[in-house]
Amino acid sequence: MLSSLSVTLVFAAAVLLTTALKLWLLARQQRHVAAHRGNVPAAFATAVPLAAHQKAADYTLAKGGLASFSIVFNAALLIGWTLLGGLDALNAWTQSVVGPETWAGYAQPLLLIGAFALIGMLLDLPLELYSTFVVEQRFGFNRTSWQLYVVDAIKGLAVGLVIGGPLVWAVLALMKSAGSLWWLWAWGLWLGFQLLIMLLYPLLIAPLFNKFEPLQDESLVQRVQALFQRAGFSAKGLFVMDGSRRSAHGNAYFTGLGAAKRVVFFDTLLKRLDGAEVEAVLAHELGHFKLRHVPKRLIAFALISLAGFALLGWLAQQPAFYVGLGVRPSLVAGNEALALLLFLMVVPVLAYPLAPLLSASSRRHEFEADAYAVEQADGRALASALLKLHEENASTLTPDPVYARWTYSHPPALERLGAIHAKLSPA
Ligand SMILES: [Zn+2]
Repeated sequence: MLSSLSVTLVFAAAVLLTTALKLWLLARQQRHVAAHRGNVPAAFATAVPLAAHQKAADYTLAKGGLASFSIVFNAALLIGWTLLGGLDALNAWTQSVVGPETWAGYAQPLLLIGAFALIGMLLDLPLELYSTFVVEQRFGFNRTSWQLYVVDAIKGLAVGLVIGGPLVWAVLALMKSAGSLWWLWAWGLWLGFQLLIMLLYPLLIAPLFNKFEPLQDESLVQRVQALFQRAGFSAKGLFVMDGSRRSAHGNAYFTGLGAAKRVVFFDTLLKRLDGAEVEAVLAHELGHFKLRHVPKRLIAFALISLAGFALLGWLAQQPAFYVGLGVRPSLVAGNEALALLLFLMVVPVLAYPLAPLLSASSRRHEFEADAYAVEQADGRALASALLKLHEENASTLTPDPVYARWTYSHPPALERLGAIHAKLSPA
Protein backbone atom coordinates (compact mmCIF):
# COMPACT_ATOMS: atom_id res chain seq x y z
CA MET A 1 0.00 0.00 0.00
CA LEU A 2 1.17 3.47 -0.92
CA SER A 3 1.27 5.80 2.08
CA SER A 4 0.30 9.41 1.56
CA LEU A 5 3.32 10.61 3.52
CA SER A 6 5.69 8.77 1.17
CA VAL A 7 3.87 10.24 -1.86
CA THR A 8 4.30 13.73 -0.40
CA LEU A 9 7.96 13.17 0.40
CA VAL A 10 8.89 11.61 -2.94
CA PHE A 11 7.04 14.33 -4.85
CA ALA A 12 8.55 17.20 -2.84
CA ALA A 13 12.04 15.71 -3.19
CA ALA A 14 11.57 15.21 -6.95
CA VAL A 15 10.37 18.81 -7.44
CA LEU A 16 13.31 20.14 -5.44
CA LEU A 17 15.82 17.96 -7.27
CA THR A 18 14.60 18.69 -10.80
CA THR A 19 14.31 22.41 -10.05
CA ALA A 20 17.85 22.52 -8.64
CA LEU A 21 19.15 20.52 -11.61
CA LYS A 22 17.47 22.82 -14.14
CA LEU A 23 18.82 25.92 -12.40
CA TRP A 24 22.31 24.44 -12.19
CA LEU A 25 22.35 23.54 -15.90
CA LEU A 26 21.08 26.98 -16.85
CA ALA A 27 23.63 28.72 -14.61
CA ARG A 28 26.39 26.73 -16.33
CA GLN A 29 25.07 27.86 -19.72
CA GLN A 30 24.87 31.50 -18.62
CA ARG A 31 28.43 31.47 -17.24
CA HIS A 32 29.82 29.76 -20.33
CA VAL A 33 28.14 32.13 -22.79
CA ALA A 34 29.18 35.21 -20.78
CA ALA A 35 32.79 33.97 -20.51
CA HIS A 36 33.02 33.52 -24.31
CA ARG A 37 31.27 36.76 -25.22
CA GLY A 38 34.50 38.63 -25.94
CA ASN A 39 35.81 36.56 -28.86
CA VAL A 40 34.35 34.76 -31.84
CA PRO A 41 35.45 31.09 -31.56
CA ALA A 42 38.42 30.37 -33.84
CA ALA A 43 36.44 28.01 -36.09
CA PHE A 44 33.99 30.81 -36.98
CA ALA A 45 36.44 33.75 -36.95
CA THR A 46 36.22 34.42 -40.68
CA ALA A 47 32.49 33.74 -41.06
CA VAL A 48 30.92 35.47 -38.03
CA PRO A 49 31.40 39.17 -37.16
CA LEU A 50 32.12 40.01 -33.51
CA ALA A 51 28.98 42.16 -33.29
CA ALA A 52 26.77 39.23 -34.31
CA HIS A 53 28.53 36.94 -31.84
CA GLN A 54 27.97 39.43 -29.03
CA LYS A 55 24.35 39.97 -29.96
CA ALA A 56 23.86 36.19 -29.77
CA ALA A 57 25.53 36.13 -26.33
CA ASP A 58 23.38 39.00 -25.01
CA TYR A 59 20.20 37.46 -26.41
CA THR A 60 21.03 34.03 -24.92
CA LEU A 61 21.75 35.64 -21.54
CA ALA A 62 18.51 37.65 -21.60
CA LYS A 63 16.45 34.57 -22.42
CA GLY A 64 18.34 32.57 -19.80
CA GLY A 65 17.51 35.12 -17.12
CA LEU A 66 13.84 34.85 -17.99
CA ALA A 67 14.07 31.04 -18.05
CA SER A 68 15.56 30.82 -14.57
CA PHE A 69 12.77 33.00 -13.21
CA SER A 70 10.25 30.79 -14.99
CA ILE A 71 11.77 27.59 -13.51
CA VAL A 72 11.38 28.92 -9.96
CA PHE A 73 7.90 30.31 -10.69
CA ASN A 74 6.69 26.99 -12.13
CA ALA A 75 8.06 24.99 -9.22
CA ALA A 76 6.27 27.31 -6.77
CA LEU A 77 3.09 27.01 -8.82
CA LEU A 78 3.31 23.21 -8.80
CA ILE A 79 3.69 23.13 -5.02
CA GLY A 80 0.87 25.68 -4.74
CA TRP A 81 -1.54 23.58 -6.79
CA THR A 82 -0.70 20.36 -4.94
CA LEU A 83 0.76 20.40 -1.43
CA LEU A 84 -0.53 23.88 -0.57
CA GLY A 85 -4.09 22.95 -1.55
CA GLY A 86 -4.76 24.98 -4.72
CA LEU A 87 -6.32 22.15 -6.69
CA ASP A 88 -8.30 21.00 -3.66
CA ALA A 89 -9.80 24.49 -3.27
CA LEU A 90 -10.62 24.71 -6.99
CA ASN A 91 -12.24 21.27 -6.81
CA ALA A 92 -14.39 22.32 -3.83
CA TRP A 93 -15.41 25.48 -5.67
CA THR A 94 -16.52 23.59 -8.81
CA GLN A 95 -18.47 21.13 -6.63
CA SER A 96 -20.31 24.02 -4.99
CA VAL A 97 -21.06 25.56 -8.40
CA VAL A 98 -22.62 22.50 -10.03
CA GLY A 99 -24.33 21.10 -6.92
CA PRO A 100 -24.00 17.61 -5.44
CA GLU A 101 -26.81 15.99 -7.45
CA THR A 102 -24.73 16.26 -10.65
CA TRP A 103 -21.34 15.25 -9.23
CA ALA A 104 -21.49 11.87 -10.89
CA GLY A 105 -21.94 13.43 -14.36
CA TYR A 106 -19.53 15.37 -16.55
CA ALA A 107 -20.34 18.96 -15.57
CA GLN A 108 -18.09 19.12 -12.52
CA PRO A 109 -15.03 17.32 -13.97
CA LEU A 110 -15.18 19.33 -17.21
CA LEU A 111 -15.59 22.58 -15.27
CA LEU A 112 -12.65 21.64 -13.04
CA ILE A 113 -10.35 20.85 -15.96
CA GLY A 114 -11.47 23.94 -17.91
CA ALA A 115 -10.98 26.24 -14.91
CA PHE A 116 -7.56 24.71 -14.20
CA ALA A 117 -6.45 25.23 -17.81
CA LEU A 118 -7.75 28.81 -17.88
CA ILE A 119 -6.04 29.76 -14.60
CA GLY A 120 -2.80 28.18 -15.84
CA MET A 121 -2.99 30.25 -19.03
CA LEU A 122 -3.62 33.48 -17.13
CA LEU A 123 -0.71 32.79 -14.77
CA ASP A 124 1.61 32.16 -17.74
CA LEU A 125 0.50 35.32 -19.50
CA PRO A 126 2.77 37.93 -17.80
CA LEU A 127 5.92 35.93 -18.57
CA GLU A 128 4.80 35.33 -22.14
CA LEU A 129 4.04 39.01 -22.69
CA TYR A 130 7.39 39.97 -21.20
CA SER A 131 9.18 37.49 -23.43
CA THR A 132 7.47 38.70 -26.62
CA PHE A 133 7.12 42.43 -26.05
CA VAL A 134 10.24 43.11 -23.98
CA VAL A 135 12.99 40.52 -24.67
CA GLU A 136 12.17 39.70 -28.32
CA GLN A 137 11.42 43.39 -28.93
CA ARG A 138 14.74 44.55 -27.48
CA PHE A 139 16.68 42.28 -29.85
CA GLY A 140 14.63 43.29 -32.88
CA PHE A 141 12.87 39.95 -33.30
CA ASN A 142 9.30 40.79 -32.35
CA ARG A 143 6.90 41.71 -35.14
CA THR A 144 3.68 40.80 -33.33
CA SER A 145 1.30 43.65 -32.64
CA TRP A 146 -1.01 43.71 -29.62
CA GLN A 147 -3.99 43.20 -31.92
CA LEU A 148 -2.43 40.14 -33.56
CA TYR A 149 -1.45 38.79 -30.14
CA VAL A 150 -5.04 39.03 -28.89
CA VAL A 151 -6.48 37.50 -32.07
CA ASP A 152 -3.95 34.63 -31.82
CA ALA A 153 -4.89 34.04 -28.19
CA ILE A 154 -8.62 33.88 -29.03
CA LYS A 155 -8.00 31.50 -31.95
CA GLY A 156 -5.74 29.35 -29.77
CA LEU A 157 -8.41 29.13 -27.08
CA ALA A 158 -11.06 28.20 -29.64
CA VAL A 159 -8.87 25.49 -31.19
CA GLY A 160 -8.01 24.17 -27.73
CA LEU A 161 -11.69 24.00 -26.82
CA VAL A 162 -12.82 22.34 -30.08
CA ILE A 163 -10.02 19.76 -30.03
CA GLY A 164 -9.28 19.37 -26.33
CA GLY A 165 -12.87 19.41 -25.07
CA PRO A 166 -14.08 16.22 -26.82
CA LEU A 167 -10.77 14.46 -26.08
CA VAL A 168 -10.99 15.20 -22.35
CA TRP A 169 -14.66 14.17 -22.34
CA ALA A 170 -13.82 10.86 -24.08
CA VAL A 171 -10.96 10.08 -21.66
CA LEU A 172 -13.23 10.84 -18.68
CA ALA A 173 -15.92 8.56 -20.17
CA LEU A 174 -13.40 5.71 -20.51
CA MET A 175 -12.17 6.25 -16.96
CA LYS A 176 -15.73 6.12 -15.64
CA SER A 177 -17.02 3.13 -17.56
CA ALA A 178 -14.39 1.05 -19.38
CA GLY A 179 -13.44 -1.11 -16.38
CA SER A 180 -10.01 -1.73 -14.91
CA LEU A 181 -8.24 -1.65 -18.30
CA TRP A 182 -9.62 1.80 -19.11
CA TRP A 183 -6.06 3.14 -19.34
CA LEU A 184 -5.28 0.84 -22.25
CA TRP A 185 -8.32 2.10 -24.17
CA ALA A 186 -7.47 5.68 -23.25
CA TRP A 187 -3.94 5.13 -24.55
CA GLY A 188 -5.32 3.84 -27.87
CA LEU A 189 -7.62 6.85 -28.08
CA TRP A 190 -4.76 9.22 -27.26
CA LEU A 191 -2.53 7.66 -29.89
CA GLY A 192 -5.25 7.78 -32.57
CA PHE A 193 -5.84 11.39 -31.61
CA GLN A 194 -2.13 12.23 -32.04
CA LEU A 195 -2.14 10.66 -35.51
CA LEU A 196 -5.26 12.58 -36.45
CA ILE A 197 -3.67 15.86 -35.31
CA MET A 198 -0.54 15.09 -37.33
CA LEU A 199 -2.75 14.68 -40.39
CA LEU A 200 -4.99 17.66 -39.72
CA TYR A 201 -2.50 20.15 -38.29
CA PRO A 202 -0.87 21.19 -41.58
CA LEU A 203 -4.19 21.18 -43.45
CA LEU A 204 -6.63 22.76 -40.97
CA ILE A 205 -4.94 24.21 -37.90
CA ALA A 206 -1.70 25.85 -39.05
CA PRO A 207 -3.53 27.80 -41.83
CA LEU A 208 -5.67 29.47 -39.13
CA PHE A 209 -2.54 31.28 -37.96
CA ASN A 210 -0.37 31.64 -41.07
CA LYS A 211 -0.52 31.75 -44.84
CA PHE A 212 1.12 28.84 -46.66
CA GLU A 213 1.98 29.36 -50.29
CA PRO A 214 3.82 27.35 -52.90
CA LEU A 215 7.28 28.61 -53.82
CA GLN A 216 7.14 31.57 -56.27
CA ASP A 217 10.71 32.06 -57.56
CA GLU A 218 10.85 30.16 -60.89
CA SER A 219 14.57 29.21 -60.85
CA LEU A 220 14.23 28.06 -57.25
CA VAL A 221 11.17 25.98 -58.18
CA GLN A 222 13.23 24.15 -60.79
CA ARG A 223 16.06 23.46 -58.35
CA VAL A 224 13.59 22.18 -55.80
CA GLN A 225 11.80 19.97 -58.28
CA ALA A 226 15.08 18.43 -59.41
CA LEU A 227 15.91 17.65 -55.78
CA PHE A 228 12.44 16.22 -55.13
CA GLN A 229 12.89 13.97 -58.14
CA ARG A 230 16.36 12.76 -57.09
CA ALA A 231 15.03 12.04 -53.62
CA GLY A 232 11.83 10.43 -54.89
CA PHE A 233 9.51 12.86 -53.15
CA SER A 234 6.12 14.27 -54.16
CA ALA A 235 6.73 17.77 -55.51
CA LYS A 236 3.75 19.47 -53.91
CA GLY A 237 5.37 19.17 -50.51
CA LEU A 238 7.17 22.54 -50.18
CA PHE A 239 5.43 25.60 -48.73
CA VAL A 240 6.49 29.09 -47.76
CA MET A 241 5.00 30.42 -44.51
CA ASP A 242 4.59 34.09 -43.60
CA GLY A 243 6.55 33.72 -40.35
CA SER A 244 7.53 37.41 -40.65
CA ARG A 245 4.04 38.37 -39.46
CA ARG A 246 5.01 37.57 -35.90
CA SER A 247 8.78 37.30 -35.65
CA ALA A 248 12.04 37.89 -37.50
CA HIS A 249 13.29 34.45 -36.47
CA GLY A 250 13.84 32.17 -39.45
CA ASN A 251 13.32 28.43 -39.63
CA ALA A 252 12.40 25.46 -41.76
CA TYR A 253 10.58 22.34 -40.57
CA PHE A 254 8.90 19.18 -41.73
CA THR A 255 5.46 18.11 -40.62
CA GLY A 256 2.53 15.81 -41.30
CA LEU A 257 1.97 12.21 -42.25
CA GLY A 258 1.16 10.44 -45.49
CA ALA A 259 -0.39 12.68 -48.12
CA ALA A 260 -0.33 15.63 -45.69
CA LYS A 261 3.45 15.61 -45.22
CA ARG A 262 5.26 18.75 -46.21
CA VAL A 263 8.33 20.89 -45.71
CA VAL A 264 7.72 24.46 -44.57
CA PHE A 265 10.14 27.36 -45.06
CA PHE A 266 9.66 30.62 -43.17
CA ASP A 267 9.68 33.58 -45.56
CA THR A 268 12.26 35.17 -43.23
CA LEU A 269 14.70 32.31 -43.88
CA LEU A 270 14.01 32.17 -47.61
CA LYS A 271 15.00 35.84 -47.94
CA ARG A 272 18.43 35.23 -46.44
CA LEU A 273 19.48 32.07 -48.28
CA ASP A 274 20.70 31.71 -51.85
CA GLY A 275 19.43 28.98 -54.19
CA ALA A 276 22.05 26.37 -53.27
CA GLU A 277 21.45 26.97 -49.56
CA VAL A 278 17.68 26.60 -49.89
CA GLU A 279 18.24 23.34 -51.74
CA ALA A 280 20.63 22.07 -49.04
CA VAL A 281 18.25 22.92 -46.18
CA LEU A 282 15.38 21.30 -48.05
CA ALA A 283 17.53 18.18 -48.59
CA HIS A 284 18.10 18.10 -44.82
CA GLU A 285 14.34 18.19 -44.17
CA LEU A 286 13.73 15.50 -46.82
CA GLY A 287 16.38 13.46 -44.99
CA HIS A 288 14.11 13.41 -41.94
CA PHE A 289 11.37 11.83 -44.10
CA LYS A 290 13.66 9.44 -45.98
CA LEU A 291 15.26 8.16 -42.78
CA ARG A 292 11.79 7.61 -41.29
CA HIS A 293 12.36 9.92 -38.34
CA VAL A 294 8.64 10.67 -38.03
CA PRO A 295 7.51 7.04 -37.46
CA LYS A 296 10.54 6.43 -35.21
CA ARG A 297 9.59 9.37 -33.00
CA LEU A 298 5.98 8.23 -33.05
CA ILE A 299 6.89 4.74 -31.83
CA ALA A 300 9.05 6.12 -29.02
CA PHE A 301 6.21 8.46 -28.07
CA ALA A 302 3.70 5.56 -28.14
CA LEU A 303 5.82 3.39 -25.82
CA ILE A 304 6.55 6.18 -23.35
CA SER A 305 2.89 7.20 -23.21
CA LEU A 306 1.80 3.56 -22.75
CA ALA A 307 3.97 3.40 -19.63
CA GLY A 308 2.44 6.72 -18.54
CA PHE A 309 -1.16 5.54 -18.98
CA ALA A 310 -0.43 2.28 -17.13
CA LEU A 311 1.01 4.31 -14.26
CA LEU A 312 -2.04 6.60 -14.28
CA GLY A 313 -4.33 3.54 -14.25
CA TRP A 314 -2.65 2.35 -11.08
CA LEU A 315 -2.25 5.73 -9.34
CA ALA A 316 -5.89 6.72 -9.90
CA GLN A 317 -6.86 3.75 -7.64
CA GLN A 318 -4.61 4.80 -4.75
CA PRO A 319 -6.18 7.11 -2.15
CA ALA A 320 -2.62 8.04 -1.07
CA PHE A 321 -1.96 9.49 -4.55
CA TYR A 322 -4.65 12.14 -3.93
CA VAL A 323 -4.11 12.75 -0.23
CA GLY A 324 -0.32 12.78 -0.57
CA LEU A 325 -0.60 15.49 -3.24
CA GLY A 326 -2.86 17.73 -1.18
CA VAL A 327 -6.29 16.75 -2.53
CA ARG A 328 -9.24 15.16 -0.72
CA PRO A 329 -10.77 12.57 -3.09
CA SER A 330 -14.55 12.36 -3.11
CA LEU A 331 -16.03 9.23 -1.56
CA VAL A 332 -19.41 9.51 -3.29
CA ALA A 333 -18.46 10.54 -6.85
CA GLY A 334 -15.66 9.85 -9.32
CA ASN A 335 -12.24 11.47 -9.01
CA GLU A 336 -11.29 11.09 -12.67
CA ALA A 337 -10.62 14.77 -13.33
CA LEU A 338 -8.53 15.08 -10.16
CA ALA A 339 -6.50 12.02 -11.15
CA LEU A 340 -5.88 13.43 -14.65
CA LEU A 341 -4.82 16.86 -13.42
CA LEU A 342 -2.56 15.52 -10.66
CA PHE A 343 -0.99 13.15 -13.14
CA LEU A 344 -0.39 15.90 -15.71
CA MET A 345 1.40 17.89 -13.00
CA VAL A 346 3.44 14.98 -11.66
CA VAL A 347 4.56 13.48 -14.97
CA PRO A 348 6.96 16.21 -16.13
CA VAL A 349 8.74 15.95 -12.77
CA LEU A 350 9.02 12.15 -12.88
CA ALA A 351 9.90 12.05 -16.59
CA TYR A 352 12.63 14.70 -16.36
CA PRO A 353 15.44 12.09 -16.36
CA LEU A 354 14.20 11.11 -19.85
CA ALA A 355 14.97 14.60 -21.19
CA PRO A 356 18.66 13.97 -22.02
CA LEU A 357 17.80 10.66 -23.74
CA LEU A 358 15.15 12.29 -25.92
CA SER A 359 17.37 15.22 -26.85
CA ALA A 360 20.28 12.88 -27.63
CA SER A 361 18.08 10.88 -30.00
CA SER A 362 16.85 14.09 -31.63
CA ARG A 363 20.45 15.26 -32.14
CA ARG A 364 21.32 11.91 -33.72
CA HIS A 365 18.49 12.42 -36.20
CA GLU A 366 19.85 15.88 -37.05
CA PHE A 367 23.29 14.43 -37.80
CA GLU A 368 21.68 11.76 -39.99
CA ALA A 369 19.60 14.32 -41.90
CA ASP A 370 22.73 16.47 -42.42
CA ALA A 371 24.60 13.45 -43.81
CA TYR A 372 21.70 12.78 -46.19
CA ALA A 373 21.72 16.43 -47.30
CA VAL A 374 25.45 16.32 -48.01
CA GLU A 375 24.83 13.33 -50.32
CA GLN A 376 21.83 14.87 -52.10
CA ALA A 377 22.89 18.53 -52.29
CA ASP A 378 25.84 20.85 -51.77
CA GLY A 379 27.39 20.27 -48.33
CA ARG A 380 29.19 23.62 -48.34
CA ALA A 381 25.89 25.37 -48.96
CA LEU A 382 24.36 23.44 -46.05
CA ALA A 383 27.20 24.62 -43.79
CA SER A 384 26.79 28.26 -44.81
CA ALA A 385 23.00 28.04 -44.46
CA LEU A 386 23.39 26.70 -40.91
CA LEU A 387 25.67 29.58 -40.00
CA LYS A 388 23.21 32.09 -41.44
CA LEU A 389 20.43 30.38 -39.47
CA HIS A 390 22.45 30.79 -36.27
CA GLU A 391 23.21 34.42 -36.98
CA GLU A 392 19.64 35.20 -38.02
CA ASN A 393 18.29 33.73 -34.78
CA ALA A 394 21.13 35.00 -32.57
CA SER A 395 21.77 31.42 -31.42
CA THR A 396 24.94 31.16 -29.40
CA LEU A 397 27.93 29.42 -30.99
CA THR A 398 29.43 28.74 -27.55
CA PRO A 399 26.93 26.77 -25.47
CA ASP A 400 27.99 25.04 -22.28
CA PRO A 401 28.77 21.40 -23.26
CA VAL A 402 26.84 19.86 -20.35
CA TYR A 403 23.82 22.10 -20.90
CA ALA A 404 23.84 21.27 -24.62
CA ARG A 405 24.09 17.52 -23.91
CA TRP A 406 21.12 17.68 -21.59
CA THR A 407 18.75 20.02 -23.40
CA TYR A 408 19.69 20.69 -27.04
CA SER A 409 17.42 19.08 -29.64
CA HIS A 410 19.91 20.16 -32.33
CA PRO A 411 23.68 19.65 -32.10
CA PRO A 412 25.75 22.77 -31.29
CA ALA A 413 26.96 24.54 -34.47
CA LEU A 414 30.59 23.53 -33.99
CA GLU A 415 29.78 19.79 -33.84
CA ARG A 416 27.30 19.99 -36.68
CA LEU A 417 29.60 21.86 -39.04
CA GLY A 418 32.47 19.56 -38.01
CA ALA A 419 30.43 16.50 -39.04
CA ILE A 420 29.44 18.11 -42.36
CA HIS A 421 33.04 19.04 -43.20
CA ALA A 422 34.23 15.55 -42.22
CA LYS A 423 31.76 14.10 -44.75
CA LEU A 424 32.88 16.56 -47.42
CA SER A 425 36.57 15.71 -47.14
CA PRO A 426 36.96 12.24 -45.63
CA ALA A 427 40.42 11.75 -44.17
ZN1 LIG B 1 16.49 18.75 -38.80
